[in-house]
Amino acid sequence: MKKKIKEIIDVSNEIYNKGLVSGKAGNISARFKSETGDFIAITPTLKSLSDLKEEDIVLVDFDGNSLTKGKPSSEVNMHLEIYKKRDDVKGIVHTHSPYATGFAFSSKKIKRYEGFGEIKKPYLSSIEYEKPGTDELAKKASEGIADEDVLILKNHGVICVSDSLKEAKLLAIFVEETAKTQFVTYMLNSVEDNI
Ligand SMILES: [Zn+2]
Repeated sequence: MKKKIKEIIDVSNEIYNKGLVSGKAGNISARFKSETGDFIAITPTLKSLSDLKEEDIVLVDFDGNSLTKGKPSSEVNMHLEIYKKRDDVKGIVHTHSPYATGFAFSSKKIKRYEGFGEIKKPYLSSIEYEKPGTDELAKKASEGIADEDVLILKNHGVICVSDSLKEAKLLAIFVEETAKTQFVTYMLNSVEDNI
């Protein structure tokens, strides 16, 4: 458990330092299995991911009860609903990474590039806007993620899920790089070639 909590802190630092989250935005969690039922460890509300300590990470059971001190992220229900729907998911990373979120605020979709695994659909899936922190967002996101590993939240950000927190993090980094490449391509294609 201690190791996993340390991993949450390391992943928080890494995605902050890479610019995938800024200020006090973004939240990540990992699932724990126990004999008395699953629970999650999640980053706290109103704290920057840049500077978390072990005691800041909040343990929450599947009924939403905090098992430790501190207040979990305002998106805790979104995380819980996804874990409930997807038994295979062990880690969730939610960011507002700038390029991918730029696409989320536009009418353009992010193409799936090589590196996501098998390309079954040409674009990343998305769901329509719901207010952050609401049950509506938790419901729509958990339904939208169905058999996806990435979900774009329109006018909001990105969710990446995987069978480990590390993989979810790598996916979040990859999605942002993909969106950046696509943005640069759009820009270059939009200017006249004067050479
Ligand atoms: Zn958010």
